[in-house]
Amino acid sequence: MSPFEQTPVIPVIQLNRVGRHYGNDPPVHALIDVDLQVTPGEWLAITGPSGAGKSTLLNVLGCLDRPTSGSYLLDGIDTAKLNDSQRAGLRSRRIGFVFQAFHLLPHRTVLENVMLAEVYRKQSQHGRQERARAALERVGLGHRVDFFPTKLSGGEKQRVAIARALVGSPSLLLCDEPTGNLDSKSSADLLNLFEKLNQEGLTPVSYTHLDVYKRQP
Ligand code: ADP
Repeated sequence: MSPFEQTPVIPVIQLNRVGRHYGNDPPVHALIDVDLQVTPGEWLAITGPSGAGKSTLLNVLGCLDRPTSGSYLLDGIDTAKLNDSQRAGLRSRRIGFVFQAFHLLPHRTVLENVMLAEVYRKQSQHGRQERARAALERVGLGHRVDFFPTKLSGGEKQRVAIARALVGSPSLLLCDEPTGNLDSKSSADLLNLFEKLNQEGLTPVSYTHLDVYKRQP
């Protein structure tokens, strides 16, 4: 390769004619021939009414479900070629999940909640607290490490959930209705956070039935 040629960019997400149907009598076609490419530096919101196939798509992107046709490459890795344990490994290393209901443990501090993510991932204990603190700094919650979740606003709880997803250094952050429990100010703050994380190399993907992602002109 000449020194002037650029290395090709590997998409974070590459879907080629992905289909997913349920049952056969008659089949429900939740996804039909979906082509999607998301490269580093991009992020997206999947919107649509109930029944449009958002959860199905998120389950495919999160390697929780396999498409019935087509292919899905995550960071250039063809997920169809992996067995279940390889897929679980890929999921824990490359994908962070954030849920609408936050799922924080109320009797653990913010810092402990984030550290627990590594316990479940069976990651080395060495440096665990520092990594959790760094993740909380990234989401702007360095000053709340010793708080209990019950003392936090909805927007702050969401940030803790995002910090917990960030400790594994994923490339993809999948968020289920992330603004569902937030007021409009916290929703706007969340979009700004997604933009910042995206500039730092992460790809946030959210899905919602709401149109909150359209910025006002
Ligand atoms: P959304 O998240 O946009 O509400 P879903 O992905 O949950 O949409 O569903 C898309 C379509 O697939 C719907 O018609 C739904 O009824 C159907 N569907 C989803 N999951 C299943 C399932 N496990 N079995 C049968 N049909 C399903």
